[in-house]
Amino acid sequence: MAAAGVKRIVASGRALAAMVLAIALVRVLFLRAFGVLTGLPLFRQNYGPDRLPAVDPEERAQMPRFSACFACGRCDIGEGERVRASNGAYPGMMRFVLASSRSMPDYDAAERALAFVPEDVLRDKEAICPAHVPFTALARFVKKKAAMMREEA
Ligand code: SF4
Repeated sequence: MAAAGVKRIVASGRALAAMVLAIALVRVLFLRAFGVLTGLPLFRQNYGPDRLPAVDPEERAQMPRFSACFACGRCDIGEGERVRASNGAYPGMMRFVLASSRSMPDYDAAERALAFVPEDVLRDKEAICPAHVPFTALARFVKKKAAMMREEA
């Protein structure tokens, strides 16, 4: 029975939700039994060519903190030498947080930028960021996703 048909018969919100979930589960199990791609394999098939690796629940919970930056510029203090040394690969920490780390398909470039910033510098910057951006966790996330893209390519 289609979900639209169920909505007409069941009045209660919870009962309706349970029924829709049950129908979806049966549908997925049925499709899997016949070898049809579902879930993560389907996600990879659909989004892999766009260079979008999957995000796990723990990463999803962290992501709002990655985007807390309000562009105060404090994390760029002392970054001039690293920016210069990178020859354009590292644009500074604020731009890394606001731009480089926002586009997953470009994480290979973001990873190259991170090569110019030691871990202890990332940790020190966490203490001065008024928005509490977790630079270390963000860098780890970018590197992990860049590695996943390489594996899936
Ligand atoms: S210190 Fe924090 S809020 Fe300020 S620019 Fe850097 S990441 Fe953004």
